[in-house]
Amino acid sequence: MSNLKLSALLLNWYRDHGRDLPWRVKGGAHPDPYAVLVSEFMLQQTTVKTVLGYFEKFMRRFPTVESLAAASLEDVYLSWQGLGYYTRARSLHETAKIIVNEYDGVFPRTRETVLKLKGIGSYTVSSFLALAFNLPETVIDGNVIRIICRLYNLTAPTDEIMSLIRQKAEKLTDRRHPADYASAIMDLGATVCTPKKPQCLLCPWQTACRAKTSPLLEQIPSRRKTEKKEKPGNVYLIQNSKNEIFIRKRTEKGLLSGLYEFPWSEETTPLPGAGDTGKTVTHVFTHFKLTLRIYKLQTETPPTNDGFFAAPEALKSYPFSTLMKKVQKAAG
Ligand code: SF4
Repeated sequence: MSNLKLSALLLNWYRDHGRDLPWRVKGGAHPDPYAVLVSEFMLQQTTVKTVLGYFEKFMRRFPTVESLAAASLEDVYLSWQGLGYYTRARSLHETAKIIVNEYDGVFPRTRETVLKLKGIGSYTVSSFLALAFNLPETVIDGNVIRIICRLYNLTAPTDEIMSLIRQKAEKLTDRRHPADYASAIMDLGATVCTPKKPQCLLCPWQTACRAKTSPLLEQIPSRRKTEKKEKPGNVYLIQNSKNEIFIRKRTEKGLLSGLYEFPWSEETTPLPGAGDTGKTVTHVFTHFKLTLRIYKLQTETPPTNDGFFAAPEALKSYPFSTLMKKVQKAAG
């Protein structure tokens, strides 16, 4: 079956079965590139289902790129709370400032210029240009890789055949309807050609698909497993006699930068006088998995000079990382 026929089948399917999402419209580009940009940052490492709840709230709080650029990073973090991976919020904020200050609020629309913004890699740039401006870009994410590998029965580990996958994906891209095509192939992967139990009988590409009847279908695409490094550490809930709790802001650079936290470190020998709660929390970062043991400590003196004691009811006005939210919840 020709690529033209395949993309026509997919677009027909999308018109009837594609998801209605607030950051895209069927039939072409979204009228507001800012909405597409916000969604692209939120969707990095987070599912559509989770993002939906945060997107609308964020857009109400920061309805334009100008309002986001004018906000403080702390306010942006507060609206991002719960989504995790705060580097994305920081990069989105930086990007908004660049668009306002260097482009007078007009979104750039070439690959080279968009790639120079903050936190935008090769996947995000393609998806943004396709959805915001209907430009002929090929989007390649996990969904697309899975579909292409199955459609052509490519069984080698994906890291060995990425250029072949890209070639095939580019040939399939409908250059007359790139926004719809990008949305359609992502929807096909999310709702029909799912990792487990793909619903081939509902698939517009079922007659062309070479892996459809393979007993190994669910094992396509083949990926090498990379184990995340495990790191232990301690976290301290330090209270004074007024029941206030010690918090500090992380430095402006590095892991979880700019967010508030209870003091923690990878040092596993507890501080003198700290009581072991017997509870732990685990959080998976991009490159490692951290497990912190929770200790409690009573003192009137701030343990370090980079933080302060805050009343428990005031804690919600400070942006905490997902890891620290977990600590708070586990400690009760
Ligand atoms: S026929 Fe099945 S395996 Fe093939 S692309 Fe469609 S859903 Fe995926």
